[in-house]
Amino acid sequence: MKLNESYGKLELLIDGNWKRSVSSQTQLIYDPGTGESIGEVPFATTEETNLAVETSQKAFEKWSNVPILERIKYLFKIRSLLEEHRDEIASINTQSHGKTLEESRGEVQRTIENVESAISTAYTLSKGETFDRIAEGIDEFSVKEPLGVFAIICPFNFPLMVPFWFIPYAVVLGDSIVVKPSEIDPVPTAYVVKLIEDKVGLPPGVLNLVHGSKDTVQTLISHKLVKGVTFVGSTPVAKRVYQLAGEHGKRALVNGGAKNSIVIMPDAKIDNAISPIVSSFFGNAGQRCLAGANLITIGDDTRKTVVNKFAKASSELRVGYGLENSTQMGPVVSKKSKERILDYVEKGLSEGAKLASDGRETKVISYPQGFYLGPTIFDQVAEDMTIAKEEIFGPIASVLSYDSLDDAIESINGNTNFGNMACIFTSSGGSASKFRHEVDAGNIGINLGVAQPAAPFPFGGRRESFYGILHAQIDTVDFFTDKKIVISRW
Ligand code: NAD
Repeated sequence: MKLNESYGKLELLIDGNWKRSVSSQTQLIYDPGTGESIGEVPFATTEETNLAVETSQKAFEKWSNVPILERIKYLFKIRSLLEEHRDEIASINTQSHGKTLEESRGEVQRTIENVESAISTAYTLSKGETFDRIAEGIDEFSVKEPLGVFAIICPFNFPLMVPFWFIPYAVVLGDSIVVKPSEIDPVPTAYVVKLIEDKVGLPPGVLNLVHGSKDTVQTLISHKLVKGVTFVGSTPVAKRVYQLAGEHGKRALVNGGAKNSIVIMPDAKIDNAISPIVSSFFGNAGQRCLAGANLITIGDDTRKTVVNKFAKASSELRVGYGLENSTQMGPVVSKKSKERILDYVEKGLSEGAKLASDGRETKVISYPQGFYLGPTIFDQVAEDMTIAKEEIFGPIASVLSYDSLDDAIESINGNTNFGNMACIFTSSGGSASKFRHEVDAGNIGINLGVAQPAAPFPFGGRRESFYGILHAQIDTVDFFTDKKIVISRW
């Protein structure tokens, strides 16, 4: 599978075999940059999904007994493979998602870093602990055991990186997995899974791939052999997945949506802040769970200065086809998504916000059918407006203004239910420290616009941005294993 005009109907990977689904339910896959279809994704039948789980369980029974130092060697191969195919993977990702090539290259890099982190995790954190002679004649120790089959449910916005927040950790720790990519842009995940399957030689059934949507997810979570689920997606679905996992007694690590605020203090070095702000709000066409959504300025003078500079810099972004090197901002992922975002713009206008920059009519001449929108900035947004509260997930910024940092923090903590990320631009250590302590969000940025945890840190939010206890990336070592305690007297 290489960069292609059509990938045809995607196949399922079950027990080491690529199978054509017998399902009659399918969905077209689009290149968002051209607006043309590039393939079709089948929604796996219940029988196919069940088969993936059952064969995965069989694989687990052998795989979990393979010594960890042997399992690690597969990860080294996966790492080399991703390095070797870096550019190809980035191009396929851009074609399927729409993001720029530079953004896709960044995503591939984050994907590789998660493989590296899983390798180091396996060497270090997967060991148990020993308490010699905890009582007279008694020794006690713990081992971390893999559990079985896990379902990995993914969103559309990072088709490479998000699956790799989980895949390498689960695999190296001795579990087996069934991955379900987003049905909107499943090709990049399918491409990488195929590369691994063809070149790495993992035992059949350790890594499985099924396609589908809601029903597939329900089948996976409710299957008695599935031990747990990782989910990344929107909050309404996240809540449902967490509930379903609870009903079926499954482990769940569930990342939801976001509405991230970025605060600009009057003492911030505003000229240094503009480029990271533009990238936060409009990078990935605003479709990042760590994208800026509300820009909060402190004081009216700060607001005026920031809005002018932000609007000017944003208007200079070259919106275009992601596969062209000159493009600085790609399309949004689908026609439906574009329509949903445009509805929010209408809502903002009807609720009284003012457009400082209007990207609604942005056209890319060579790709008239592409799902393009330009950077759009709303000024004078009140905190009770829909555009200040709900996740839009597109290139729309809402500028709110408060008199003090206290008011801004109160708004961040109270005006939305999300707590994924919050950033502050300031020259004051005191303000930065106050912000870090008082804001209820999982990731805090100081003088930067995207506070993305590197692979050796956990990735997760708070409040309605996250359900569960253990987060993605490194925390999964405890999610994908269970501690068994052994107490012995001789
Ligand atoms: P989505 O919730 O629409 O879909 C996510 C996954 O859930 C897909 O695989 C989809 O097939 C499946 N799904 C859809 N409806 C379902 C249902 N009713 N029951 C069970 N499964 C269902 O999300 P999306 O649009 O693909 O991704 C964007 C969202 O993901 C945004 O809200 C974004 O903030 C969030 N996100 C969060 C993080 C994070 O770390 N917090 C990271 C990336 C994306």
